[in-house]
Amino acid sequence: MSLVEVKGVTKRFGGLTAVSDVDLTVKAGEVHCLIGPNGAGKSTLFKLIVGLFPPSAGSILFDQVDVTAERPFARVQRGMSIKMQAPSVFKELPVRQNIQIALQDRVSGAERAAEEQRLLELLGLAADAGKMAGALSHGQQQWLEIGMALALRPQLLLLDEPTAGMSPEETYKTGELIKSFNAEGMTVLVVEHDMAFVRQIAQRVTVLHLGKIFARGSLDEILNDEQVAEIYLGKTHAH
Ligand code: ADP
Ligand code: MG
Repeated sequence: MSLVEVKGVTKRFGGLTAVSDVDLTVKAGEVHCLIGPNGAGKSTLFKLIVGLFPPSAGSILFDQVDVTAERPFARVQRGMSIKMQAPSVFKELPVRQNIQIALQDRVSGAERAAEEQRLLELLGLAADAGKMAGALSHGQQQWLEIGMALALRPQLLLLDEPTAGMSPEETYKTGELIKSFNAEGMTVLVVEHDMAFVRQIAQRVTVLHLGKIFARGSLDEILNDEQVAEIYLGKTHAH
């Protein structure tokens, strides 16, 4: 069953077509990776899915409901949550308070304290709960942000470059974290560059290039596709 259906979605910014007639299905329960060169339109597609931009054309279905005209808040209430590419933790507030803000009014009282602690432990941040978020390492800030997105217990978690700036060990740990949410039934759509990480987590992969779907399949199918190697992997290996 599909959880997200992007149908013929286009997004223009003035004369630039950032996303062009894209069809994408995310199946309920899968980890799906979106890859492609810089400027391919990956972050724009994420923002279209959560409703931060209206599409210029096309429609977006979430859980069989057309949400194209819905505001981001309404989509979050339906069960979407996003960690955007640009970091957005509250650096001047303690780690614990960042989690509290993200929990909002989903839970209260004792249940809230328990949920707060569960998330801090899951993220490996319990010992740092009293530190200012800005004092965490870059990788820990990324985890905190993932935790804030998770606090809503979304059905669909969108992660835009969650491992940017992480060490290989932190990246691996992030992959295991994503697999653990997925094992509990969460559907995850991830934009990622690191192929080892994609191999660790992805069940299906979609390649975006110049705003269009360029290829889709298993990671092995993608890696064996010569045209993909030309547009994407060739460039990646070059730097
Ligand atoms: P990716 O995440 O794949 O690197 P983006 O979705 O960020 O790509 O960007 C796709 C294209 O759209 C780029 O050319 C980018 O400059 C442009 N773009 C993205 N957001 C905006 C915006 N808010 N206004 C104008 N152009 C944008
Ligand atoms: Mg991006």
